[in-house]
Amino acid sequence: MNDTVTDTPPTAPSAPSAATRHARLAEVLACPACHAPLHGTVVCAGCGTTGRRDGTRYRFGGFEPEELKADALNRVKEFVKTRFHKVYPTAIKVLSPVMDRPGAITGFLKSFDLDRDLVADFGCGTHRRDERVICMDGGSYGNVDIVTDLRRLPLADNSLAGGVSIAVLEHVPDPANHVAEMHRVLRPGGRMLVFVPFMQPFHASPHDFQRYTEVGLKEQFPQFEVLDVKVGAGPTSGMVWVFQEWLAMLLSFGSTRLYRAILPLTWILSPLKVLDLVLAHHPMASQVASGFVVEVRKPA
Ligand SMILES: [Zn+2]
Repeated sequence: MNDTVTDTPPTAPSAPSAATRHARLAEVLACPACHAPLHGTVVCAGCGTTGRRDGTRYRFGGFEPEELKADALNRVKEFVKTRFHKVYPTAIKVLSPVMDRPGAITGFLKSFDLDRDLVADFGCGTHRRDERVICMDGGSYGNVDIVTDLRRLPLADNSLAGGVSIAVLEHVPDPANHVAEMHRVLRPGGRMLVFVPFMQPFHASPHDFQRYTEVGLKEQFPQFEVLDVKVGAGPTSGMVWVFQEWLAMLLSFGSTRLYRAILPLTWILSPLKVLDLVLAHHPMASQVASGFVVEVRKPA
């Protein structure tokens, strides 16, 4: 596709566009089954595995519509995410009881030269963190470049310089297989930033399988070097969320309908999460942190 720096239009490096991202993605696209290069097509010449292309979006697996609608709360979430994918991340930032460590993700992305280094968001949801980052998810929201099963990525071996996985690992039934795929598609020396929950209520998206302690998280990356683990969301975030669930149950007298009506009213307590700006830095914060963030590197 674009071969050398001199072939690239002069505006491209300073104005990274969706077209540039799609061109770079086509270069690393590979069969999710046998990992043979697809050269931008959707049919594997080696094993016959077939994907789909809708405009600029590739689809190799991903969630079935029924799967996304199985959980009642997730059904509502999916509706909002599909219709309002551009404003959903901002809405969640405001309404959610969880406050992520400010700057952790943007700081990590800034450690790459995104004009040169190909970086992907593994399970992006409705986030587009940068125009140059490849967005992958099981759901087909407007921002997603590749709709895929995260345990069978349609990317070539050693094709990425980095990746982020934010609140995704708890939603994968067999996280070891997903981590093995991260390892396969990262180039030697490539780095991942992974956020996982510790003290958080159940939240299907469309499934929810596990939580991690600080030491438990480190154990999830046996093929990687663990560079850093820290509190990714402080103790207040988890406590407020649990308290909101508890309050809705206490006041709904055994009625699921009343519980669902009351729960959004408890979001008025969500601003308490700002206390985590201080508490996330307490030396004992990991005891009841809402989540942890780990940075890992594939050995060079
Ligand atoms: Zn194949």
